[in-house]
Amino acid sequence: MAARIAVLGDINQDFVMRAERMPRPGETLVGSDLRLVPGGKCANQAVTAARLGAEVTLIGRVGADVFGAELVANFAREGIDTSFIERDPDEATGTAFITLAPSGENSILVCLGANGAISPEQVEGAAEAIEGADMLLVQLGAPLDAVLRGMEIAHAAGTPVLFDPAPVHGDLTPMWPHVTIATPNETEAEAITGAPVTDLAQAASAAAWFRHRGVRLAVITLGAQGALVVDGDGARLVRGYAVEVVDTTGAGDAFAGALGVRLAEGAPIDEAPAFANAAGALAASRFGAQTSLPTRPEIQALMAAQQADDRVVPVEA
Ligand code: ADP
Repeated sequence: MAARIAVLGDINQDFVMRAERMPRPGETLVGSDLRLVPGGKCANQAVTAARLGAEVTLIGRVGADVFGAELVANFAREGIDTSFIERDPDEATGTAFITLAPSGENSILVCLGANGAISPEQVEGAAEAIEGADMLLVQLGAPLDAVLRGMEIAHAAGTPVLFDPAPVHGDLTPMWPHVTIATPNETEAEAITGAPVTDLAQAASAAAWFRHRGVRLAVITLGAQGALVVDGDGARLVRGYAVEVVDTTGAGDAFAGALGVRLAEGAPIDEAPAFANAAGALAASRFGAQTSLPTRPEIQALMAAQQADDRVVPVEA
């Protein structure tokens, strides 16, 4: 049976443009190659889960504008249940203006718009979707009180919570007791724990920090290296897959979405992060956020092509 996944958080319309360099204050610079790409961490994770065959319900908010209408239609085409996406009469659909420079540098200006108006009451209205799910996926693109309410509803119903704490902001202390799985990257782990995360031992210490706060499976994503996972059986590095990197946007979302689906399907604790690494690697090998998200056959093909006996290695904490 397909895993039932509820995803709560942000939906964005991304405007991506190339420029020779970043514009200076007061300057008008001519860019090129404008692309409108659906984005938002929650939206990306929801689309990942849907492409992997899960039954996905998205809880979010868009504006009553053309972007909102098109994004919702796009979710429906992906097979996602959109009945808990509300149309805000006052706020615009969330947007991100992304400038890409040839150096690989980018600059991003985000307008939260309707995402910032997701309320605990809206989340309560979607309680049945959370309670009936095998996993709730949440990030920090919606207001903290709404995110916390979603976690509380899940916890009370016994629905495991996979929390991708990005972008890091605010006081997350009340959230940890409700979190089953956390998936920060190195920068997010540093910002949250207050300690540097520059090598595996430090990543294992950061993971232990999350475990002490009640998180059952702490996963620190390590870019091309893969992911460091810590549960009751200790710390392991689950190595990543080698790909030619085109655009890492969406890699973390592909990772979180894929990990959530495989764990909801009952995959073993060391197999699920390998599957998620392959999903993240495929997303990093293609342009854009949602445009780059992989399907299950693509993930399986990459895993089969790069089988390795040392995919999972113990790490001394
Ligand atoms: P984020 O995208 O949130 O910053 P990471 O950079 O750690 O997070 O990427 C998330 C996951 O995507 C990694 O754990 C890895 O599985 C995969 N990934 C990211 N970048 C690469 C890469 N260059 N090569 C292979 N896999 C990658």
